[in-house]
Amino acid sequence: MKENTFDNSRRMALKKMAGGALAVPLASLVLNGTAVAADLPQLDESDPMAGALKYKHDATQAPRTDKAGTPAAEQVCSNCQLAQGEGEWLGCSIFPGKAVNANGWCTAWIKRAG
Ligand code: SF4
Repeated sequence: MKENTFDNSRRMALKKMAGGALAVPLASLVLNGTAVAADLPQLDESDPMAGALKYKHDATQAPRTDKAGTPAAEQVCSNCQLAQGEGEWLGCSIFPGKAVNANGWCTAWIKRAG
């Protein structure tokens, strides 16, 4: 019985250590989101996926139309729900591993919540 208590305590301690070991890298990913996006290579407008979604670094050059109550002229990557980070170049869940311009746009644009 006493041995079982020791095993449970050790099991709990190991679980906490494992959780802590995972939390540190995840926290640094979130906190370094800006730095990560800035380090990504810029999305090439001639990339096939970028072309299919009509992506442009300069949203004024993209075929924007009013979407879900947001005027076309107000739609840019920096206020898109799918953008990640802050700054001139952002991460984007549609183009993983590439940076999109904060003033860019593609047809997947969706208004950022909040
Ligand atoms: Fe920009 Fe959003 Fe399109 Fe990504 S999904 S390229 S953030 S408009």
